[in-house]
Amino acid sequence: MQTRQWLLADHPRGRPLKDSDFELVVREVPEPGPGQALLQTIWLGFDPAQKGWMENVADYVAPMKLGDVMRGSGIARVVRSNTPRLVEGELYAGLTGWTEWLVSDGAGFERADPDLPPTAMLSVLGTTGLTAWCGLFKLGEPKPGDTVVVSGAAGATGSTVGQLAKAAGARAIGIAGGAEKCRWLLEEAGYDAAIDYKAEPVRARLRELCPAGIDVVFDNVGGAILNDMLGEIATGARVVICGGISRYETGVMPAGPENYFNLVFRRGTMRGFIVLDWANEFPAIRRRLAGLVKDGRLVFRVDEQQGFENAPRTLMRLFTGENRGKQVLKVAD
Ligand code: NAP
Repeated sequence: MQTRQWLLADHPRGRPLKDSDFELVVREVPEPGPGQALLQTIWLGFDPAQKGWMENVADYVAPMKLGDVMRGSGIARVVRSNTPRLVEGELYAGLTGWTEWLVSDGAGFERADPDLPPTAMLSVLGTTGLTAWCGLFKLGEPKPGDTVVVSGAAGATGSTVGQLAKAAGARAIGIAGGAEKCRWLLEEAGYDAAIDYKAEPVRARLRELCPAGIDVVFDNVGGAILNDMLGEIATGARVVICGGISRYETGVMPAGPENYFNLVFRRGTMRGFIVLDWANEFPAIRRRLAGLVKDGRLVFRVDEQQGFENAPRTLMRLFTGENRGKQVLKVAD
């Protein structure tokens, strides 16, 4: 039996992703041995961090070598199993990689919640939702009445952050690209206000919307937007650095945010984090997120593209802002 796989063909350092960074190959799938199972990938999930993994700039994960199967999360169905850890016919989420078929012993795979759409395991119950929860509650510590400002707000992580902030009694303001995303933030995700950074002056709008300053910044973007948010922080603000997607495709490091000294005047803190540091808490946090989704207090949207051959192009959507919510790719029925 054979499978298609996407391999890493080049390290995309200091530039946008290109088609030639990936190579499509066909390989034999080994027979599952004792303690192993054969799985078919049904969905792949996409994260901006995958570009960093391809570049080998991140030191919190093992380096990727040219010729490696593209690393990435997915949801797979167990087709044949020699282990009680993976039950035949059931769906599991984990690091499948960009392959249509795989053999696994189940390490790192979690069974999908049967009461929710399976793609929830890649989005609101996956790394995305866990990142939103950990960054917001462990670093941002929003209190009732606080103003929380989120960049990349209409994305998979950002849209969850705003809703969790609201559930904690805070006011949520989102910054996103385009009128449609801003409308979705207000009408579906329950944000109190939205700023379209492609059409509005961000700093001036923040000043208008946050007259008493920003208590919690949750930044997914970096660059000029981070600088604008730093310029408007309140006394005692917590600035959470989750990501910096505005620089992931450029070779030039942005100049330091000139408004950083406001952290001194406002006695603020700025901290970054890697969500994997709380991995031992993931099952408990996932249960709480699932509870909020089932109660209708946490909505999420999934942007589903089709076809295994489109995996590289689907990853690229994250960097052009084409994705509407969590980016996934359906690769089998
Ligand atoms: P996402 O927000 O669903 O998708 C990426 C979004 O980024 C795009 O839709 C686009 O939205 C925005 N974007 C792209 N290029 C941009 C640019 N040059 N300037 C401003 N915005 C840009 O992706 P996600 O998976 O939820 O990830 C969000 C962030 O969380 C990323 O920075 C990621 O690296 C970070 N993250 C961090 C951790 C951690 O442990 N620290 C874990 C997971 C994710 P617009 O159309 O609004 O521009």
